[in-house]
Amino acid sequence: MKPKQHLIILLLSIVLPANVSSQVFSNADLTITKLEEGLWVVETTDKTTMYIIEGSEKAMLIDTGTKCDNLDEIVRSITKKPLYVVLTHLHFDHAGNIGFFPDIYFHAADTLLLSRLKPYKGTTHFVKDGDIFDLGDKKIEVKHMPAHTPGSIVLIDRANGNCFSGDAFGSGQVWLQLWPFSTMETYIESCRKMEQLMNEGISKIYCGHYPYVKKPLDIRYIKNMQLLAESINNGTVPDPQPFSIRIPDIGGPNPMIATLNGVSIVYEPSKIK
Ligand SMILES: [Zn+2]
Ligand SMILES: [Zn+2]
Repeated sequence: MKPKQHLIILLLSIVLPANVSSQVFSNADLTITKLEEGLWVVETTDKTTMYIIEGSEKAMLIDTGTKCDNLDEIVRSITKKPLYVVLTHLHFDHAGNIGFFPDIYFHAADTLLLSRLKPYKGTTHFVKDGDIFDLGDKKIEVKHMPAHTPGSIVLIDRANGNCFSGDAFGSGQVWLQLWPFSTMETYIESCRKMEQLMNEGISKIYCGHYPYVKKPLDIRYIKNMQLLAESINNGTVPDPQPFSIRIPDIGGPNPMIATLNGVSIVYEPSKIK
């Protein structure tokens, strides 16, 4: 290599941010970035998120985003292994492209939300707490974490300390103001279960709207969520404010937002208990 070429490469490596080197795909709808060996985050331009996990035998797509043309082909450009498509829950921003895939997996308690999506002609499979998807050298475990929706699940990769949480604990802010509503106690119980998993070795929570946080959430996040949820539940929450965004059709009529140590809960006061 000539000295001049060497200098150019050196300069490029200084000027370009570190994550550019791991970005593996980009188009008008989304970018795909490698996070770890066999793990990619798919970030859509409207800030929804999918994850691709590749094991030695099979692969998994977690959630299907909003509108992303040719999502199946794009995922195939990352992994050609047989693919499980698993939905953390059935909100449109996590299940928007299920039509590209012949089989989907989700928790039965979210079936009531299926009718709000475009009609799905493929095969639906139900998962339950404790189910394990065997990807070969990676085992991905289902944990039921209801509250954001009745059928919200997280997906656990114990060997790598990873959790893929969808909206179960939010992405900085969890939304509990949505039909069909869960009690605050249901959310507190899910926080307790999540904290237990973190005490057992899960260290990184990859949330369902990664572009807002750009890093995994940690145990402090879950502990703060639990504290805040308990204060809402027992009526001691400090300074809740009206929440400005009304969600058409499924949002409660008078949503409030409360914040503690950088985490927020949006809730419908009449549905706490
Ligand atoms: Zn959601
Ligand atoms: Zn979402």
